[in-house]
Amino acid sequence: SARPDLVPFDGVGRTADGRRVELLANVSGGDDAAAASRAEGVGLFRTEFAFLDRHDAPSAADQTVAYREVFAAFRGRRVVVRTLDAGSDKPLAFLAGPREQNPALGVRGYRTAHAHPDVLDAQLAAIAAAARAERADAWVMAPMIATAAEARQFVARCRPHGFASVGVMIETPAAALCAAEILAEVDFVSLGTNDLAQYATAADRQLAPLADLTDAWQPAVLRLIRLVGEAGAAAGKPVSLCGEAGGDPALAPVLVGLGVTSLSMAPQALDEVAASLGAVAFEQCVAAAAAAAAAPGPREARAAAASVLAK
Ligand code: PEP
Ligand code: MG
Repeated sequence: SARPDLVPFDGVGRTADGRRVELLANVSGGDDAAAASRAEGVGLFRTEFAFLDRHDAPSAADQTVAYREVFAAFRGRRVVVRTLDAGSDKPLAFLAGPREQNPALGVRGYRTAHAHPDVLDAQLAAIAAAARAERADAWVMAPMIATAAEARQFVARCRPHGFASVGVMIETPAAALCAAEILAEVDFVSLGTNDLAQYATAADRQLAPLADLTDAWQPAVLRLIRLVGEAGAAAGKPVSLCGEAGGDPALAPVLVGLGVTSLSMAPQALDEVAASLGAVAFEQCVAAAAAAAAAPGPREARAAAASVLAK
């Protein structure tokens, strides 16, 4: 890091009073994973990135190679593999359907499995084979889930492969509002705040003029995260977060106070996020979260959290 006073992340994320918060990395392939191996594990492996240029679905052999590279960089540690999140900002030719007026609201993520169940089943088999070969602690999760029924279907499809843990992303407001029912179906959830903010505020995440609306500090987004955190605590199941917000050191204590139990981020953010959490007690995180979520807007939420955490 550019900050000379910053203590490098020592591999165990925690608050000042010792509450564990796993700090994980977001990766999109083997090269990334090698560079991220200081993290405690991988909280989001975006598998679609390896196949963006493919016209046809990748073979089982090609997939197994790609997944093994990431597992090998984190041997013995957790790797959360997300099944193909095709569509909208990440189109995959082999999963594309008819042209859509609103691709962000279209057949994307897990929804592509209705027309292409074979592609999902082949991917799950390839992930399982790669995990066995590398003795990986492989967790799998589905993107773009809106209902508990979808979560149940995904878990059923995963069952034959014997994964250690099966979860779904919470990145639609519907999923956040039904978090308790979804958590009843799965082992864990992971908040995708990039899409959650987009759908909560009805503002395209790719439009710079709308960046204030898609800010994760928007109280509406913080309150949705809190619903999921509370549901996770009630269910006794992990609530991870793997959107870009996971790498914001000022937001990390707030997220932990809202009930997030692990943060996954771009690896460059690990040192600052670890230092930020290590400087505050869990009770301060809870107070900062309450203050931020009650604020009228993102700027006020930042100020409110900073003032609580400075005490
Ligand atoms: C998200 O939506 O926050 C997320 C982590 O997934 P992606 O950015 O790949 O859509
Ligand atoms: Mg997403």
